[in-house]
Amino acid sequence: MAVAKQEAGADGGILRPSGEKALLIDGKKASDIVLAEVTTAAAALIARGVKPGLAVILVGDNAASQVYVKSKSKAAQACGFHSVQYDLTAATSEDELLKLVDQLNGDPAIHGILIQLPLPPAINATRVLERVSPLKDVDGFHPFNAGLLSIGDLERALVPCTPAGSMLLLDRAMAALGRELAGADAVVVGRSNIVGKPMAQLLLSRNATVTIAHSRTHDLPGTVRRADVVVAAVGRPEMIRGDWIKPGAVVIDVGINRIPGEGLNAQGQPKTRLVGDVAFAECLSHAGAITPVPGGVGPMTIAMLMSNTLRAATLSRGP
Ligand code: NAP
Repeated sequence: MAVAKQEAGADGGILRPSGEKALLIDGKKASDIVLAEVTTAAAALIARGVKPGLAVILVGDNAASQVYVKSKSKAAQACGFHSVQYDLTAATSEDELLKLVDQLNGDPAIHGILIQLPLPPAINATRVLERVSPLKDVDGFHPFNAGLLSIGDLERALVPCTPAGSMLLLDRAMAALGRELAGADAVVVGRSNIVGKPMAQLLLSRNATVTIAHSRTHDLPGTVRRADVVVAAVGRPEMIRGDWIKPGAVVIDVGINRIPGEGLNAQGQPKTRLVGDVAFAECLSHAGAITPVPGGVGPMTIAMLMSNTLRAATLSRGP
């Protein structure tokens, strides 16, 4: 896909691929902007005596989780935070993990606690996540924060990172297209507690008219066709087709799916590639704006984690 030189957005990161209808929303550029803002704000907070602190906990040796945790710790350091990483063995008991969470809850140098999922099957993830102090719950998964989001108290809620980042990309797309989110028909496909539901709440808080679709939805293509804004968080490669998209709609693709690619890699293994939940190439000629996979919502998640940690540290100083 050739990418044209012309910038459609005032602040960069929004391009129109040659000959296509849709604007491409670059999540890497948007995340760099967020990270630069967080770094500047963190320096100001440090100058006032509070160094934001993030503790990241990994249990077990899941290869993908190791990569995620490393990137999170690295981003925290790059933002100037106090960054601590706990690599616990798969044999760690639930009690041991709960004790560590209690210790971090009471540690004034730590403002954010992230427990990388999935946890080993012997550990009850709900019990562990609910043990994290809601004030240090930078993943936004604690029922207290989910409750604040659902009553629209965004002043106090720590919002889950992926939907928060998706919202930021949506705002950039709407601004580039000169459109208002208020009153727009938004369809969120997927109703998980970590993406679909919080995304729907965020859209509602911005006065969109929100529909949540899921695996039991009758006529999913027809539901998506009515949407001015489509958020796909399904986990099914390229399920949402180009002809489901209302002409000019904004499409935010949260999905990350690894599928077989072509040929063999350097190690002689079959190549794989990442695709979203949206058939990207088809949608380019229907949508008004779209996020790519990779390079769309993905990079935003870590940036919003840093933003949440900064927020938790700022709130810890009190009013
Ligand atoms: P999840 O917990 O598996 O939820 C998937 C949702 O999709 C469920 O609500 C499910 O409906 C719905 N669904 C499944 N099949 C469907 C179908 N045929 N038609 C309509 N709806 C269907 O997944 P998740 O954790 O929300 O993640 C969704 C995607 O986002 C995945 O690809 C994941 O890798 C990606 N993700 C990306 C990031 C990031 O950083 N960019 C972060 C988190 C997740 P039911 O509720 O009816 O089962």
